[in-house]
Amino acid sequence: MNSKPTQGRPDARGVEADFNHFGFSTRTIHEPFPSTPAGVVHSARQSSNCGRTPRPSGADGDLSPTWQLENKLARLEGAEAGLVLSSGLAAFRTLVRSFLAAGDEMIIHRPVCTDTAHLIREIVSAVGARLMPVDLSDPEVIGRLITARARIVYLDTPTNPLNNILDIAAIAERAHAHGLMVAVDSTFATPALQRPLEHGADIVLHSLSKYINGHGDTVGGALLGKAAVIRQLREEAFRHRHETAISPQASFLILRGLNTLALRMDQHCNAAHALALTLEAHPYVAWVRYPFLDSHPDHEIARRQMSGGSGMLAFGLHKGAEGATAMTRRLRLIKSGGNLAEIGSFICGSARLTHARHLSLAGSEFCASLGEDFIRCSVGLEDAEDLVEDLLVALDFA
Ligand SMILES: *Cc1c(COP(=O)(O)O)cnc(C)c1O
Repeated sequence: MNSKPTQGRPDARGVEADFNHFGFSTRTIHEPFPSTPAGVVHSARQSSNCGRTPRPSGADGDLSPTWQLENKLARLEGAEAGLVLSSGLAAFRTLVRSFLAAGDEMIIHRPVCTDTAHLIREIVSAVGARLMPVDLSDPEVIGRLITARARIVYLDTPTNPLNNILDIAAIAERAHAHGLMVAVDSTFATPALQRPLEHGADIVLHSLSKYINGHGDTVGGALLGKAAVIRQLREEAFRHRHETAISPQASFLILRGLNTLALRMDQHCNAAHALALTLEAHPYVAWVRYPFLDSHPDHEIARRQMSGGSGMLAFGLHKGAEGATAMTRRLRLIKSGGNLAEIGSFICGSARLTHARHLSLAGSEFCASLGEDFIRCSVGLEDAEDLVEDLLVALDFA
């Protein structure tokens, strides 16, 4: 994974500049403690046999896990500042409440009709604003459809669950030309694989509940960007702190998970790529969508914008929904369920992804429906060979 921003020893441009010459994995584990004498370890754990650890002076010495998490995420995304909140949706709600007023519009990459799409619409209508769903795979659409009330362009890439890749740099260029802010949900990529601010985005949103925590045992959300933008978001979040505040325990767990992010994302990418290649070569498989397959329509953008394809993949069988059900029943390691971006592998079909509340949205202009044959697989951290074997045995259902 190419994650070293610069090579060689930097000159004395302060602690941050010095710290930034380290690779991504190093920066997920260490902190730039300016006043730390070599060899002294700072942690929330102060066991009696660790000796007395002096509390470091200066801002970086703050031991609040939420504060540490905000700073670490900001450094990893290349942001000036960060804000950590109770969930990914709380982060989205804070973004909307901060930058949209009644009558304003948010240009959004047209989502698939899932429960999340439903909630996004509720959150935006709650402030009296409107969503303008467009297909951002053509960034020129921004110039063609913009109105005087448009404020923000919002997109996720890779997209859930279709696994499309949107060109952040091209979208940001068009949006900025019209005075719009660009916010990118980068949850599926994490800063280990993609850093949207480097491509011109103004705000990055993460659900920390997924890969960043990585262990499926807590929830959190984050917003990263320029200091002035984060300050405004923080004030808005503070007004609603009964619903936006994250617990110190959740921040602590996410910080601990983050230590192994680079390793985990490497393994997710390798296993998902192996599965994608297996599926692509299988006679029962009609189509596969994985960003680092040459057959992916956006693979050139993916290779420019990401350093790995992540752990999500989508595919369909010639035998459609019926085949998907038959295959899923035969899987042993890969569990059936809507969970994603966790340690274990999960698979689910179109019906499960779009059931329940999507019915009120079906047929609307706002969101797109999934094909009956659609299958999403969130590839976990098991041995890739075992997952490949599990799939091959399951596919032999005829
Ligand atoms: C899960 C998810 C969210 C919502 O995050 P929560 O932490 O569950 O509230 C937002 N965006 C993406 C891409 C997600 O997968």
